[in-house]
Amino acid sequence: MKSKIWLSSPHIDKNELDYVKETFLDNWIAPVGPHIFGFEVAIETFLKRPSFVTAVTSGTAAIHLALKLLNIKAGDTVLCQSFTFIATANPITYLGAIPVFVDSETETWNMCPYYLEEAIKEGLKLNKKPKAIIIVDLYGMPAKMDEIIEIATQYDIPIIEDAAEALGSEYKNRKCGTFGDFSIFSFNGNKIITSSGGGALVCRNSADKEKTLFYATQAKEVALHYQHEEVGFNYRLSNVCAAIGKGQMEVLSKRIIQRQANHLFYQELFKGNKDVTVFKTDNTDFNSNYWLTCVLIGPQASFSNLDLIKYLGLHNIEARPLWKPLHLQPVFENTLFYGGNVCSDLFSRGVCLPSGSNMSLVERLFIAKVLTEFFKSK
Ligand SMILES: *Cc1c(COP(=O)(O)O)cnc(C)c1O
Repeated sequence: MKSKIWLSSPHIDKNELDYVKETFLDNWIAPVGPHIFGFEVAIETFLKRPSFVTAVTSGTAAIHLALKLLNIKAGDTVLCQSFTFIATANPITYLGAIPVFVDSETETWNMCPYYLEEAIKEGLKLNKKPKAIIIVDLYGMPAKMDEIIEIATQYDIPIIEDAAEALGSEYKNRKCGTFGDFSIFSFNGNKIITSSGGGALVCRNSADKEKTLFYATQAKEVALHYQHEEVGFNYRLSNVCAAIGKGQMEVLSKRIIQRQANHLFYQELFKGNKDVTVFKTDNTDFNSNYWLTCVLIGPQASFSNLDLIKYLGLHNIEARPLWKPLHLQPVFENTLFYGGNVCSDLFSRGVCLPSGSNMSLVERLFIAKVLTEFFKSK
């Protein structure tokens, strides 16, 4: 194989470039313009439930804004899934708040409801009630929404749903990105669709969207002169990026089918392999977009996850370990963690496999060939 097979690379269709050209012709080369509105409406329509979407510069910015709208302040604690990309938790620290990490359960790999409640109870005992809960739909798999929402409601703590990887996933036929008091998406280059870089904050009502726009554009008060009474951010998405995003929304349903087909390909490939389990659930409440297909190496295997990743790398196939749990990251060294060893075990045994919607049949066959060689050599 001459060119590298990536984990997840951008997959552009026909209309994106036409929309970008429009931005040049109309001179809307700015963080205002018609494609921003078009992109937001496309997301709102896709989500089906009443959703008020603001397009911003990144998923990270969207989480930062959600925390700001929840009035998170320095010294507050925020409960956060440990098993995720660092972007989920970084914005907590931007506000001077303190993350407290929670382990995953083994069925969805997302926040464990049991340990979530433990963390809340401990917080209450210490007179430090958590101000928000950030859950994640990791690798596209929805979290255990009913259980988590029940706990959050019981203790009256708002939820931010990080659906950066789960655009198009569903829980009980309802789209991910509609479960949090605030939900976010990312349109980074590696996600299921991209705006080259970008994100979205999903609010449940128009008043919150108004506030989002206010904080995302430097908290400018209504006045002819520049009047500022609060600190804001410069987080609005460019109209040029939104043009790409709008074009990508038109092919999203195709991209979801393609990723799910990759997943079935790997399921077939590893069928009967006693050392490798493909991450999935048979529970039909959970419908993943399978942004990335992940596998776990059995503890008895004669090879490690890193052996497999290195071997694929030698053949120009990108594979990666799973996200390293945040409570194990040096930058979060002194933070609290509630749980056992679920996510640390997943990290020590997992592999993300190439899952791009643009993966060709030839590339799939090549991956199958290389993997077969690898298992033969073991
Ligand atoms: C990609 C990602 C983000 C951040 O999105 P950016 O647009 O890159 O800032 C947040 N959370 C998760 C789980 C992600 O995968």
